[in-house]
Amino acid sequence: MTAPLPLVGLLGVLGLAIGSFLNVVIYRVPRQQSILFPASHCPSCDEPIKTRHNVPVLGWLMLRGRCATCRQPISPRYPLVEAGTAALFIAVTLRFGISLQLPAYLFMAAVGLTLAMIDFDVHRLPDSIVLPAYIVSVLLLMPAGAGDGAWWPASRALLGAIALGSIYFTLALAYPVGATFGDAKLAGLLGFYLGWLSWPAVLIGALGGLAVAAVGGVITGSGGVTGPGSVKSPGAVTGSADPAAEVGVRSIALGTCLVVAAGTAVFFTTPVVSWYGSLVGAS
Ligand SMILES: [Zn+2]
Repeated sequence: MTAPLPLVGLLGVLGLAIGSFLNVVIYRVPRQQSILFPASHCPSCDEPIKTRHNVPVLGWLMLRGRCATCRQPISPRYPLVEAGTAALFIAVTLRFGISLQLPAYLFMAAVGLTLAMIDFDVHRLPDSIVLPAYIVSVLLLMPAGAGDGAWWPASRALLGAIALGSIYFTLALAYPVGATFGDAKLAGLLGFYLGWLSWPAVLIGALGGLAVAAVGGVITGSGGVTGPGSVKSPGAVTGSADPAAEVGVRSIALGTCLVVAAGTAVFFTTPVVSWYGSLVGAS
């Protein structure tokens, strides 16, 4: 797949703007605040943020990471989410080129990043984001199937959603401490996108989620997905206004791991499969 350079640049800028919106969603949805009103304001002093300081990444740099009014530090996570969304948008554009799948996988990137961050922060995957995302995903990917005359990827996408959703639904039943039905709903959504690509992508998404959770559990010392520290805690939303202060203390969030694994599957399944094929072929 090739993408012309102006398109890649345009999607990068769009990614910065969308990333700025995702920051609002990541901060406000778990707190049950409106994502439209009021306009962006400092979490410390409530002072509205001036338009020129609201420019993605640059605004934060101009302010040197501090509120213009009260000088309280503003988390570097805000510019990082903006830059990260831009980087993901560029990567997805390079991966899919000008195609009918491109809008669908850009949406997957935006929604995946949002849910990964929210789960990381508060160990919840809000239905208010996950369930509408199913509808948007079907509406975006199904025309790609019709347009390309490719009905098998579309059918496999549905089977992928059922497969990944069922695996994590079963896990949530068997190990309610480690996995929740929220994780199962997210797994189904990600399975839809991975199924569209290939069965190996579904497999990498399914196993990768657990692998990332296990590694993350070892690093954070929480014992992976079955560790007692990974119980989802809906009450954890309150507390510091700075999202960065709320992270890093709790154990790994399975939803975040699922998104990391799905992202890996989108970009690396083809190289991994051909590497495996060359191994098998050489033996
Ligand atoms: Zn302030």
